[in-house]
Amino acid sequence: MFLDRTTERPAPAETGVDAARDVLKTVFGYSDFRGRQAEVISAILNGEDVLAVMPTGGGKSLCYQIPALMQRGFGLVISPLIALMSDQVQALQDKGVRAARLDSSLSMDARYDLWDQARDGQFDLLYLSPEALLQPFVLDKLSRLPVNLVAIDEAHCVSQWGHDFRPEYRALGQLKGLFPDVPTLALTATADPHTRADIKRALHIDNAREAIDSFDRPNLSLRLMRRQGSAAKTIVEMLRRQKQASGIIYCGSRDGSEKLARLLSAEGFKADAYHAGLPAHTREQRLKDFMADKTRVMVATIAFGMGINKPDVRFVIHADPPSSIEAYWQEVGRAGRDGKPASGVCLYSSTDLGWALRRLTMRENETGADLGIQKQKARDFFQFMLGATCRRQGVRRYFGDTTGQACGSCDNCLARGEPSDATEAAQMLMSALYRFNGPRGRKKLIEHVLGKNPEDYGARLKTFGIAAGQYKADFLTQTLDYCEALGLVAEEMFDGNKPIIALNDADALRALFRNDTRLYLRP
Ligand code: ADP
Ligand code: ZN
Repeated sequence: MFLDRTTERPAPAETGVDAARDVLKTVFGYSDFRGRQAEVISAILNGEDVLAVMPTGGGKSLCYQIPALMQRGFGLVISPLIALMSDQVQALQDKGVRAARLDSSLSMDARYDLWDQARDGQFDLLYLSPEALLQPFVLDKLSRLPVNLVAIDEAHCVSQWGHDFRPEYRALGQLKGLFPDVPTLALTATADPHTRADIKRALHIDNAREAIDSFDRPNLSLRLMRRQGSAAKTIVEMLRRQKQASGIIYCGSRDGSEKLARLLSAEGFKADAYHAGLPAHTREQRLKDFMADKTRVMVATIAFGMGINKPDVRFVIHADPPSSIEAYWQEVGRAGRDGKPASGVCLYSSTDLGWALRRLTMRENETGADLGIQKQKARDFFQFMLGATCRRQGVRRYFGDTTGQACGSCDNCLARGEPSDATEAAQMLMSALYRFNGPRGRKKLIEHVLGKNPEDYGARLKTFGIAAGQYKADFLTQTLDYCEALGLVAEEMFDGNKPIIALNDADALRALFRNDTRLYLRP
C-alpha cells in the first residue's frame, strides 16, 4: 500500500486502491485503472461524494461496481434504461458478480424474494430505474437495508441545464436524505460547468469532489459540412467509401430515419431504422442485428443512444444537426470506442437552426416550460459548427477545459488558408435588414447587398449592392447563418411555411456595429 512518509498512514487519496486493483484484475480481468477510475474509487472508499464526468466508454461502471464489491452490503445503482440495466446485470452475473435488478417487469413474488436476498446480503449490486425507485414502499424498504453506495448513472438527466432532462430524475434528490452517511457517485459523460453545479445541487451533494476526465478523443476525426443538395445522396457517397464499416446515422425525425433507411437499403446497404415509435421487440431485434454486424448502418433518432456500447462503430453521421454540443459529443462519441480511427460528420443547412428554435417554441407553448436554455444550446452548437476553431478544442472549451493543442485532424485544422473575418459582411447584411424595416427572405437579402434585381423596390435603399464585388453569395450565406447563431437575427415564418429573417437582439446588434463582436468564418 502507498504510504504517506510523514505520517506513515495510508494517504487518503490512495485508500484501498491496491485492494481495488486486485478486484479489477481478478473479477474483471483488467490490468490497471484508466483515466480517473482510481481517484474516483478511492474517494468512494473514503466515504466522499463524487461527481464523475468521463467520456462514454471511459469505464464509468467500474467506478461503482468495484467499491460496491469491496464493502459490506450492496451498492444501489440508478440507471435510466431498463434494457441497458438487464445487459449490465447479465454481464456482471457472467463474471460471477452477484448483481440484481428491480424494475416494473418483476412480479410481486420476485420482489419479495429480492428484498429477502438484500437483507441476507446475497448480492453486491442492485440496479433500479428512477421509476422503480419511486414506487410505493421502495424507498422505505431500501432505507432499512445495508446500502454501501448510491450510484446515479446518466446524472445529467437530473438537470434542466443538461441536454436530456427527465422529470422523474428530480426525485433522486431524496436519496441523500435517506442515506446521509453513504457516498453518492453521480456519473455522466457530458456536463458543462453549469450543469455540474446543478447536478450537485439537485442531488444534495454540494461538496462532492469533481473527477473530470479529459474530453479528448484523439482517434476521432470530425467534420461539419453544409448540405449540398440532398442529404441522402451525400450520405450514399460517404457510405460507398466506408465499405463494410459499421456506423450510425442520426436523423432529426422518426419519419426521416425510416425514409433514409429504406433508401439506403435500396442502394444495397444493410441498413435499419431505429426510433422510439417502433415496438420494443422490433427495436431489440434491430439492436441485436447491429451488434452482431448483420446490419451495418443504423439510421436512428436520438432514441438510439444511451449505453450503446459497440466498440467498432467506425462512423457517426448526423443527417440533421444535434440539439447541443453535449448531444453532439455524446453522439459522435459512439464512434471509435476501440481507439481505432473513426469519423464523425455532421451535415447542416441554413434553415436547421430556425427549425430547432421553432420546435422549442412550440413545445414552450404546449407545456408552458421555459426552454430558453435549450434555445441557447442550439445557438451555441451552430456557433461551434460555423466557427473556425479546431473541433476538438471547441468541444473541450465548451466543457471548461482550455488546455491542449489543436487536433490537427478535424476539418478546421485541415482547412487551407486562414479563417476569414466576416464582421463587415455581417454589418452590411444587418444594415440592409434594418433599412428594409421588416423581415426578408435570406436569398432576397443577399441578392440585395449584391446589387441584384434592380427592379425590386429595395434597389432604392442605400445598402443596395454594398457587398457587390467584395463578397460572394456563399460567404454571405454563411455569415447570415452565423448572425442567426449569435442571435442577431431570428427566423420567422411567412405565410406559415416560408422562412424569413428579422432583426432580433438589439444589444447583440449594437455590439456588432461597435466592432465588439467579431465574426470569423472557416475558410
Ligand atoms: P461508460 O459507462 O463510461 O460508457 P463502461 O463502464 O461501459 O463505460 O466501460 C466501457 C468498456 O471499457 C467496458 O467494456 C469496460 O469493461 C471497459 N473498461 C473499463 N475500465 C477498464 C480498464 N481499467 N481497463 C480496460 N478496460 C476497461
Ligand atoms: Zn482540430
